[in-house]
This record gives sequence, structure tokens and C-alpha cells, in this order.
Amino acid sequence: MSETGQIGSANPETICAGAGVAADKAHASVAPPLHLSANYAFADPTEKPPFDYSRSGNPTRAQLERALADLEGAASGVITASGMAALDLVLCLAKPGELVLAPHDCYGGTHRLLNARANRGHFELAFVDQTDPIALKAAFESKPKLVLIETPSNPLLRITDISACVALAKACGAITVADNTFLSPALQRPLDLGVDVVVHSTTKFINGHSDVVGGAVLARDAELGEELAWWANCTGVTGAPFDSFLTLRGLRTLFPRIERQQATAGRVVEALAADARVAKVFYPGLTSHPGHNIARTQQKGFGSMFSVEFVEGVDAVELLRRLSIFTIAESLGGFESLVCVPATMTHAAMTPEARAEAGISDRLVRFSIGLEHEEDLVRDIFAALDFAGDGVNDGQVFETKPLGSKAVKQCA
Ligand SMILES: *Cc1c(COP(=O)(O)O)cnc(C)c1O
Repeated sequence: MSETGQIGSANPETICAGAGVAADKAHASVAPPLHLSANYAFADPTEKPPFDYSRSGNPTRAQLERALADLEGAASGVITASGMAALDLVLCLAKPGELVLAPHDCYGGTHRLLNARANRGHFELAFVDQTDPIALKAAFESKPKLVLIETPSNPLLRITDISACVALAKACGAITVADNTFLSPALQRPLDLGVDVVVHSTTKFINGHSDVVGGAVLARDAELGEELAWWANCTGVTGAPFDSFLTLRGLRTLFPRIERQQATAGRVVEALAADARVAKVFYPGLTSHPGHNIARTQQKGFGSMFSVEFVEGVDAVELLRRLSIFTIAESLGGFESLVCVPATMTHAAMTPEARAEAGISDRLVRFSIGLEHEEDLVRDIFAALDFAGDGVNDGQVFETKPLGSKAVKQCA
């Protein structure tokens, strides 16, 4: 085993369980030590050691970089301070005048970052519905330099055909970047489908314990990996060693967490989809989902995220208030089940017009399923729904006030 704890071409479960394990040469510690040092001694002024300064390289961060690169099938990786830092690092690849093509329904913070950078003239920017093959093909006529893919998308779980997107990008020499946060390498490996760079918010499934904000950029090709590492050192977006230490700890249980959370999500979706108060469930595992067949081919599973649009008369705000196991919070992919209203929370950074364009209604509720027992989660949702949706079946429809106002239902 190497100093980064790499175990060659092992199965991904083994890479996770063994990340950084028994790699310590100083004391033979089984769990890896945490290297907090900012700097490293030179044996000789003319010989640069493997690590010299922790902004450019750190042994603890290198273990996480290696593990994630192996899991995604990448040549190398850069661990960043956050998912946004990872995306911003990738945007260093685009010059003024070059076009960045992004999905119209990308993560709210990504939408804001892209607009903010484009407004400063760092690059040209276009958004497109990547699930619409005609619109996508038309968008490629403008010859983008960088194509950002996010599938499944947030919060509507739209599925983009990665291979089709890559084929269009290859034809015009564009670099493809996939945000793989929603599935993690346990369920999707975009580099295998020809994508050049994968980015992650490791804050979500990869750490999985909701106690670290972090990101990763993983490049299929060594040369592009070096360019990204150069920019990471230049701009200083690299992650803190302690964050890498915690994220490595979280990563070891990635597979059992994902498998359990996904199985539970499937059961909760089934229960919800059968209820008359539910207008629509957005989950790629449902055969009715428009991206179901693509998801089946490019994913190893459907994940543990889904969104729900309730019928008119169900007060989404009241529903959230009545939930007791689900915590009302942004973020996703942790051990704990979360619920949010994207319009006022995760996607508040988008203008109402951009949200409407992306199909994100004010009544949409997003769920992230954790490690609690499925029976308890289903019971929690249905108990809340009995309060929030009691105007549906008796024909009385509540006057729903705009989200954000304290007003709730008007008639009992
Ligand atoms: C959370 C998230 C990000 C941003 O990551 P941070 O770690 O919060 O900076 C980017 N993309 C997606 C899909 C996310 O869910």
C-alpha cells in the first residue's frame, strides 16, 4: 500500500473502506494521522520535498484526493474548501469571450456563481435545458468551450443523457464537466461516459455526516488535472487538512449509507406516489419519470433525493412545520432526513423568472432521505399531510398565501 493508502484497482467499496488506512510510515497507525502542518522541511535547499506548503499540497488532503480520484476513475484530483470553490476552480479553464454552457436548472449557487463571473466578463454564458435534445443541439452551435452537466438536476431530478452531451461537446472540442454531487461515484461515474472533469460538493453524500463543507475536482486526464492543481494553488481554493480528515472518515461508509438511503427513498416515494394529495413525484426511479430510461443506463441506482408537488389545497409551508423527524434545512445526502422548499431556500438566489423557467414552483418540496427507519419517515410525512392537506378531500380548498408570509389556511 502506498502513502496515500491507495489499494490499486480494487472494487469501489474496498477503496472507500481502505482510504488512508495503514499508510502511516512514522508510527504505523491504522487510522490515518491528521497532518495540520502548514509547511514541510526541505532536506536540502535545492531539493523540493513532495510536500512543501499546505496550500499546494498536504498529506491528509492527498489521501482524500487519491481515494476520490480512484472512485471516479480520474488521473488526479483537487480537494477544495467547498463545492462552490470546486466549480469556481473549473471555471478558471474558460477565458473571456469563451462560452460556458450550463443547465438551466443547475444548483442555485452554481447559477449565481456563473452569472456573477459572466457579468464581470470572465466568460460568455448560456443556459439550456439539457434534457431537451433539440435545444441542446442548437446550443452547441455557439461552440462552447466548457459544458457543465448536472444530472440528476436539483431539485427536479431531471436526467441529462451524459453520453449524448459528451458526443456534442467532443464534436466542437469543448471540455465537459459533470457535477456528480447528487449520486456520488457509488451510483454514477461520468468519466466512464467520456466526461473530462467531475466536481463534487463533498458536503453531501461523500462526507455524509453534515459536519464538513468541502468540494472536489477530479480530472480524467493527467494534463488537465495538473492545470487544475496549478490554478488551485494559484488561487488558494484548496481544502483544509482537518476537513479532509473528517471527509475521509465519512467516505469509508459511503456505500452502506447510499444503499440504505436509496432503498428507504424508494419506499417513501412508493407510499407518496399512491396518495391522492400528491400531484407529482419527481424521482428517476419511477417508470413515469421522463428520464427513467436514461437513468437506468447511466446510473447504478436512483439515489435518495426526490421532490414532490402536492395538489392545490395542500399547504406546503404547513406540511414542513408539522414534520417532526425531517429537519427543515438546506443541503442533502447526510445521515439525517431533510426537507426544504427550494423556492424560498436552496433556490432563492435565482430570480422568480429563472425559477419559473426551470420549472421550480413555489409548491415544490424537496426531500433528502437519511438513515432513519422507513416506517417512521412514512408515518411522519403522512401525519403532517393529514394536517396540511385536510382541505383536499372534502372539496374545500385553502387559500394558499405566498410562501414566506406567516398566513396559513383560511378555512377549517
Ligand atoms: C451543494 C451543492 C453545490 C455547492 O456545494 P457547497 O459545498 O455547498 O459549496 C454544488 N452543486 C450541487 C449539486 C450541490 O448540491
